[in-house]
Amino acid sequence: SAWRSVTESTLKARERHLPHSHPTYFSEPVTMVRAKGCRFYDEYGRGYLDALNNVTLLGHGHNRVVTAAARQLSRLNTNSRFVYNVLTEYTEALTATLPDGLDVVYFVNSGSEANDLALRMARYLSGRDDVVIIEDAYHGYTATVADVSPSRYKHYGKPETTHPTPVPDRYRGDYGHEDPQAGAKYASHVTDTFDRLAADGRAPAAFLYESLLAGAGQIVLPPGYLAPIHTAARQHGAFTIADEVQVGFGRLGEAFWGFQTQGVVPDFVTMGKAMGNGFPVAALVTTREISEAFDRAGRFFSTYGGNPVACAVGLEVLRVVDEERLQHNAFTVGQYLRDRLGELADRHDLIGDVRGQGLYSGVELVTNRVTKEPASAETLTVCERLKEEGVLVYPTGPAWNVLKLKPPLTFTRAHADELTEALDRVLEAGW
Ligand code: PMP
Repeated sequence: SAWRSVTESTLKARERHLPHSHPTYFSEPVTMVRAKGCRFYDEYGRGYLDALNNVTLLGHGHNRVVTAAARQLSRLNTNSRFVYNVLTEYTEALTATLPDGLDVVYFVNSGSEANDLALRMARYLSGRDDVVIIEDAYHGYTATVADVSPSRYKHYGKPETTHPTPVPDRYRGDYGHEDPQAGAKYASHVTDTFDRLAADGRAPAAFLYESLLAGAGQIVLPPGYLAPIHTAARQHGAFTIADEVQVGFGRLGEAFWGFQTQGVVPDFVTMGKAMGNGFPVAALVTTREISEAFDRAGRFFSTYGGNPVACAVGLEVLRVVDEERLQHNAFTVGQYLRDRLGELADRHDLIGDVRGQGLYSGVELVTNRVTKEPASAETLTVCERLKEEGVLVYPTGPAWNVLKLKPPLTFTRAHADELTEALDRVLEAGW
C-alpha cells in the first residue's frame, strides 16, 4: 500500500544514514508531519493524542512560542558575549522560580551538557572524583554523564568512581507504601554509602539525582527521602545536584521544581527539555559562591548557550506556564488521570501499580500481582495497540513494563478520558 511504500523508503534512508543503535518508536513507525496542542498528525492526516512528549510542555506549536522564536530570529541572534536584554529578562524570570541563592545561570543546549558541567564543577571544587547516584538513572550521553547512567555503562562496565544506590521504589523495593519510614530507610542506603566512601578516604564529590525517577520507572520519591541525604552530603562536603531535566517547570503540579516537593535546596539544578518547549534550551543554575569558586578553573562559554532566540523562547515558556496556570492544571488533571487509571486497575489484573505526581505518571504492568512478574512483552504490545487507537504512550523502567505518561501540561480531563478509554479497550480485547 501507499502507506507502506512511503514509510519503508523513509526507513531505508534512516537505515543508511543513522546509527543502527538509534531506535524508532513502534514496530511500524509513523511518519509524522505536524503537531498542534496535544495531538500529532501523520502523513494521512490521522491524529494521535500525545501522552508521551514531556518536552512540549505547553503543547506542540504553541503560537506564542512560535512567534517569540520567529521574531527574535529575524531581529537578532548571536552569542552571550554580546549584551542583549532578553537574556537578563530571562535570567530574572528563571531565577525567580528558584529558591533564594540559586542565582547564577550557565546556559547550555541540552540536559547532558548541564549535568556534565555540574559534575565537572562538583569535582573541581571538591577535589574528588566519586559520585553517588540512584540505580537505573539516565543523566545523558556525554562521556562524563554516561559514566553515571547505569543504562549506558552497563554496556561497557561501571566506572569505579560511580556508586549506585537502591531505587526508593515502594512498589517493588524493600520498604513499601505501608511503611511510613520508607523514605528515611531508603535514604540511609545513600548516607551509608557516603560514610563507607569517606571511611575509605574517598568521600564523594556529589550526589546526583532526578527529582522523580524516570528511567527507574516513573518512581515518586518517598516523603523524607532527600532531606537526610542533603544533610549528610553537606556534612561530607559533597555537592547535591538535582536533575530536573524531565520533571521541572511545573510538571509535578505541587511545586514548580521537583526537589521542592521534598523540601530541600540543592547546590546545583540542571534543566532542559521543557525549558524551550522543543527548542534547545538548557541550563545549570547554582549559587554565586560556587560559581565564583569555579571561575578559578577558567572561563565558561557556550556558543549557543543563552543565545537570544533560546532566551526569547525560554522567557515566553515561563510566561505561558504562569498565565495559563499550567502548574495548577498539571496538579488537577494529573490527579484526575491517575484516578481514572486506578478505576481501570480494579478491572484489569495486568495493572500492578499506578503512580505519579502532576502530569508525570507511570502504570506498571505485571503478569501476576503477587509475584509482580514484569509484563514486559505485554507492555510493548499495549503501546503498539494504543497507537492503532490513536494514542501515543511508550514503555520505560528497567524491565520496560511501565507505561510512561508525560503529556503536555495543557492536557485536559477530556484527553485523560480519551487515553483511559483507549487503554481500557486495549486491555479488554486482550491477546
Ligand atoms: N537527564 C534526564 C533525567 C533525562 O531524562 C535526559 C534525557 N532523556 C537527560 C538528562 C539528557 O538530556 P539531553 O537528551 O537533552 O541531553
